[in-house]
Amino acid sequence: MTTLNGKVLVLTGAGISTDSGIPDYRGPRFTTFHQSRQRYWARSYLGWPLMKKAQPNISHYALSKLQLNNYIQQIITQNVDGLHQEFDSKKNILELHGSLNQIHCLNCGHIKQRSDYQLILSNLNPKWNDFLNNVESGKFSPVVRPDGDMDLPYGTSYDSFNYSSCVQCSIGIYKPSVVFFGENVKDNIRQESIDLVKDCKSILVVGSSLATYSAFRIVKLASDLGKDIAIINLGETRGDNLSFLKIDFPCADLLPEIANQLTKS
Ligand SMILES: [Zn+2]
Repeated sequence: MTTLNGKVLVLTGAGISTDSGIPDYRGPRFTTFHQSRQRYWARSYLGWPLMKKAQPNISHYALSKLQLNNYIQQIITQNVDGLHQEFDSKKNILELHGSLNQIHCLNCGHIKQRSDYQLILSNLNPKWNDFLNNVESGKFSPVVRPDGDMDLPYGTSYDSFNYSSCVQCSIGIYKPSVVFFGENVKDNIRQESIDLVKDCKSILVVGSSLATYSAFRIVKLASDLGKDIAIINLGETRGDNLSFLKIDFPCADLLPEIANQLTKS
């Protein structure tokens, strides 16, 4: 019988963070247009307090427990929310698409924490800061449209949002250190993911439909190398035909039970 054992590599996707209320901030055309960046940063500015409040959920906890007990050797995540690291920052987590917790200058590469940039944005946009304070204190409940935009007061539009250039080189613009749609995974990260697949015995996909090619490629490589593949995901995935086991189930309903059974002393 085929089983997941030995060096297990886990690949997680958006399905694991849904229960933490994580919105998706990876938009297209970030670097091409000034207006796209204004819109991105304005929305990111308004959404950041919510992002900061998001907590890991029972699925993250279960995987963490399995990893600490050596049932899982390594986790690769497609998520950019940093929630896997909340329990233990020293664990082996490869963030395939980067992290929203960090930004970098596109000119000189200067790295900044996203939290620090929030303060800069607040100073550059006093009206938006007032608006955000009113939303946070409950004085104002904005209408959020289906595409994630909010109805803004003061007759403002996203065009009025200011963002700063790099504090180090003064000319570069900051970008969140995540792979946006249409961009490629960094070469060193891609190579690391390939090495992890080669090194593992089996792979478990959790909460991902593998719609993103960079994620599907990992599972395809695992299949080509004859590794055992199991998938826990609610709904079809691109890797279903490659797996020996597919469990069509929400991961939050299953992972805690698996972790409890395996780590029972
Ligand atoms: Zn710079």
